Amino acid sequence: MRGRIFRSITLVSLLGVLLACLAVVGVLLGQFYGDLRRDLHREMRALTAAIAAEGEGVLPAFAAAGWRITLMDSTGAVLYDSRRDAAQLAGHADRPEVASAMATGQGEARRMSATLATQTFYYAQRLPDGRILRLAGDMQSVYGAVWQCVPYLGLVAAAVALIAGLAAGQETRRIVAPLEHLDLEHPLHNAVYPELSGLLRRIDHQNNQLKERHAALQQAQRELSAVMDSMQEGLILFGPGGYVLSMNPAAGRILEVDAQAAVGEHILSFYRSPELMALIEGCTDGRPGEMTLSRGGRVYRLTASPAGERGGGVLLLLDVTERQEAESLRQEFSANVSHELKTPLTAISGYAELIAKGMAKAEDIPRFAATIHAEAARLIALVGDIIRLSRLDENAPLPRESVDLHSLCAGVLTRLKEKAEAAGINLSLTGQPIIIEGAPHILEEMVRNLVENAVQYNRPGGEVQVNLTPQPDGGVQLSVEDNGIGIPVEHQSRIFERFYRVDKSHTRATGGTGLGLSIVKHGAAYHHAALALESAEGRGTKVTLTFPGRTNTKTPA
Ligand code: ADP
Repeated sequence: MRGRIFRSITLVSLLGVLLACLAVVGVLLGQFYGDLRRDLHREMRALTAAIAAEGEGVLPAFAAAGWRITLMDSTGAVLYDSRRDAAQLAGHADRPEVASAMATGQGEARRMSATLATQTFYYAQRLPDGRILRLAGDMQSVYGAVWQCVPYLGLVAAAVALIAGLAAGQETRRIVAPLEHLDLEHPLHNAVYPELSGLLRRIDHQNNQLKERHAALQQAQRELSAVMDSMQEGLILFGPGGYVLSMNPAAGRILEVDAQAAVGEHILSFYRSPELMALIEGCTDGRPGEMTLSRGGRVYRLTASPAGERGGGVLLLLDVTERQEAESLRQEFSANVSHELKTPLTAISGYAELIAKGMAKAEDIPRFAATIHAEAARLIALVGDIIRLSRLDENAPLPRESVDLHSLCAGVLTRLKEKAEAAGINLSLTGQPIIIEGAPHILEEMVRNLVENAVQYNRPGGEVQVNLTPQPDGGVQLSVEDNGIGIPVEHQSRIFERFYRVDKSHTRATGGTGLGLSIVKHGAAYHHAALALESAEGRGTKVTLTFPGRTNTKTPA
């Protein structure tokens, strides 16, 4: 800036000096030329008068005054020249001033010297005898005059440069100083020269626009962060190549990293897997994809979707542990149900076919019919259990009411009394009437399954004892204890699974479905009751349900 101002001022000044010089020289030369011309004319008049009076002998005397005098005959051949040897000179008829004098009586011309430093002015006149007399005088040419000015011009230029430098410095400081101290945060508060006010107004306008956009962006960022932070699902935004732009706390928890420190890192540095790499590369090519990730004992579904135009994307991490477990349980359950249904149906169909085709002997028919009846009863029991379980699975809120557990247990024992007696088992109930909030049908089903098991997996002469003990928190502990065959330790952790049986043949013989304890487990969960099992092979089994007090009981959502 400073340099440019300095150059402009210097250039303009020098140009001014040069033009002024040229103008002065031009005017002076015009003046000189006019003077010279007048002198030549005056001299010519004096010379022609002298020649007419005294002959051409006066020529050398006149030449001594400094003029160049040339005398030519009427053809232009040189008769006399004051500066050259006339014999050596060629004819001058072709010179414009001479040609003009021959034709009109007088002629003028100006010619430059070879060096352009001087120019000569010629004035020719025809004498009465026809000869041509020419006078010539030199004067400096424009170029010569300018050339002579050069040293002075140099001095002037140096002075101009010096003054221009000082002036440029001062001017630049004057222009630049306010610019250097501009407060661009508050452009309109600056006191500067008027030429800048338009620019400052525009800057102020743009500042305001920027502030508004910045505020809108921040607001959007806050909203996005709030959404991302409150999400249960993990969410990662990544840029081209897989570098994290943003990670929500849930994703940080899943990948076991600090979500904020993860920004700028590559996703693969948190979980190195070819599958994840393929997913990110897919996003770069605009292809969405999915994969499963196991971490910390849980299973996550990773869904990658391309986002933005430059190969970035969004990675969503969904906890699907329960869903996957439920899915595999459902598959296992369906397979088991099919198998369990098939066995009695095959028996029913086989015996019925024998009877229908008349292939069964008359004395066998009652036995076959009894088997068909038993298998049908088993089917009914199985289907009933499946329906009850699936209802519990649905988690549908069932009507809860106050239930006296004591009388509920007494009712179950009464209904099973006959069956127990047939097996030689003694049933007993101890404890006080006690009220809990619950679904009576489910509670009855649970107690019935437990007591039935205690009878079934027992020996003749065995004991089954149902006991109710109030708890300090207002809840109650219900236990069903027998001194039957017991459960081997290795099976104890699995008997609450659907269709799990310790001894399949024994269970089948007693008509068990393998679902009873599953129903107990689900019913306990439904009532928020703790379930415990104590059993010793050959000595007996005790199943305990601890129902919480009213304040601890919540209705499942
Ligand atoms: P099931 O219809 O076969 O009785 P359950 O789910 O009620 O099915 O019981 C699962 C398995 O647990 C039974 O097959 C049996 O082997 C074992 N079991 C349950 N209760 C007892 C018990 N009181 N004593 C011994 N074994 C038992």
